[in-house]
Amino acid sequence: LMFLDLDNFKLINDTLGHNAGDEVLVAVSRTLHHCLRQGDTLARFGGDEFVVVAPGLRSADDATAIAQKLLDALDRSVQLGDTVVSVNASIGICLIPRDADSAEAAMSHADQAMYRSKRSGRGHFRLYAPELDIGTVLDVELAAELKRAIRSGSGELSLHYQPEIAISSGNILCVEALLRWHSPRHGEIPPDRFVPVAEETGLILELGQWVMATACQQLAQWQQQGIHTRMAINVSMHELKQPDFTERLGALVCEYRLNFDALELEVTETALVQSAESTTENLARLRALGVRIALDDFGTGYSSLAHLSTLPIDKLKIDREFVHGISEALNNRYIVEALIGLSEQLGIDVIAEGVETGADLGVLSELGCESVQGWLFHRSMTGAACTELLQTLSAGRNDPVVGV
Ligand code: C2E
Ligand code: CA
Ligand code: CA
Repeated sequence: LMFLDLDNFKLINDTLGHNAGDEVLVAVSRTLHHCLRQGDTLARFGGDEFVVVAPGLRSADDATAIAQKLLDALDRSVQLGDTVVSVNASIGICLIPRDADSAEAAMSHADQAMYRSKRSGRGHFRLYAPELDIGTVLDVELAAELKRAIRSGSGELSLHYQPEIAISSGNILCVEALLRWHSPRHGEIPPDRFVPVAEETGLILELGQWVMATACQQLAQWQQQGIHTRMAINVSMHELKQPDFTERLGALVCEYRLNFDALELEVTETALVQSAESTTENLARLRALGVRIALDDFGTGYSSLAHLSTLPIDKLKIDREFVHGISEALNNRYIVEALIGLSEQLGIDVIAEGVETGADLGVLSELGCESVQGWLFHRSMTGAACTELLQTLSAGRNDPVVGV
C-alpha cells in the first residue's frame, strides 16, 4: 500500500487558483492510472493525497519499482492553458503483511513513511521501517525510554571522546566528552535528537550529572595512568542554572581527586545571554576555582561581538558551520578571521571545530588559529580507544599528527 502526497500542490492552488488545482489533480490521476496494472487500486484519499494498493507483489523491490515509476511519470510538467506547472510527489510504502496486520495500521505506516520521505527531501519514496523510526517516535516516548536508560544503568549511555589539537605542536590539549545513546529499541540515537528532549523534560539534570561523573571518572583513570590532559564537558543552560551546580561538580572533583583546572565546561551563547542570576554566580565561582569556560558553537546563536567582551569565558569555539569549507568560502574566512582577531584582543583562546580537510586547516593556521578539532585528526572514540591514543602519544611513539 502506498501513500502519495503531492509536494507543491498548495502553491499551485494559492498562486494559480482552485480551478488550476482541480485540473492538476485530474492530470495527476490520469498519469497515475496509466502506470498501474489491472487489479491495482487507485484512490484519491483527500486533498492532494492518493492511495495505491498493488496486490500480489513478490518483494519490496517490486514495490519500490512501482513507486519510482509513479514518481518518474509525475515528474513531467502539466500544461494548464498557457501555464506549465511541474508536479512532484512523495511516496510512503507499507508492505502487507510484513509491516501491518490491519488496514488502519497499513494506512498509518504508509503515511508515516511518506512524512519521513518528505522530511529528507521531496520527490522520493520510502519504505516503512519501524526500527528506523526514531524521527517519528514521540518525544514523550523517547523521554520515558531515556529516563529508563539513565536510571537502569544498563550501559545504553556512554561517553565518547574527541581530542582537541594544538596546531603548532600537534599535541592533544584537551578531550571533549560527547554523549552516546544506544537504545535496544531504536539503535543509535544522536545527541542532537535526545538532548533537546532531555532539556524539555528536565531529565537533563540527571543526564548531565551522569555525564559529569563519568567524565570525571575517566579523567581520574587517565591521571592514574600518568596521562595528563584536560576534559571538556558539554553542559546545558538548565544545569548551569541550578544553584547547587558548583557544589555538585566540586563533590565529583573531590571524589575523584582531580584539580579544577583539568576541567573545561562548554556552554552555548544562548545559555550565557539568557542566563539567570544563579548562572552568573556559578560561572564566577567555577572560574575562581580554576575551571575553564568555553563558549561553544559560536556564530549560531546571538553572536553578538559586543557581548563577547562581557562574557565570563576563557575560550571561543568557532562553530563548524563557519569552519567547514573555509578554504573555499571567502565570507566564512572573513568571519573566522575577525573572531580570531577579537579573541586575541580579549585574551581568550580560540579553537575551530569541524575541521575536515587539509585545505581548511591550512587557512585556519594562516589566520592564526591556535587549535583545532575535527575529523581530519580524530573522530569521537570510545574511552578505551582514546586511552590507547593518549598512551601512545605520551609514550612519544606517535606518528606525527595528520596534516600538521
Ligand atoms: P557540539 O558540542 O558542537 O559537538 C560537536 C559535534 O560535532 C559532535 O557531534 C561531533 O561528533 C561532531 N564533529 C566533530 N568533528 C567533526 C567534523 O570534522 N565534521 C563534522 N561534520 N562533525 C564533527 P555529536 O557528538 O553528534 O554531538 C552533537 C551535539 O550534541 C553536541 O554538539 C552537543 O551540543 C550535544 N551534546 C553531546 N554530548 C552532550 C552532553 O554530554 N551534554 C550536553 N548538554 N549536550 C551534549
Ligand atoms: Ca561541544
Ligand atoms: Ca560545537
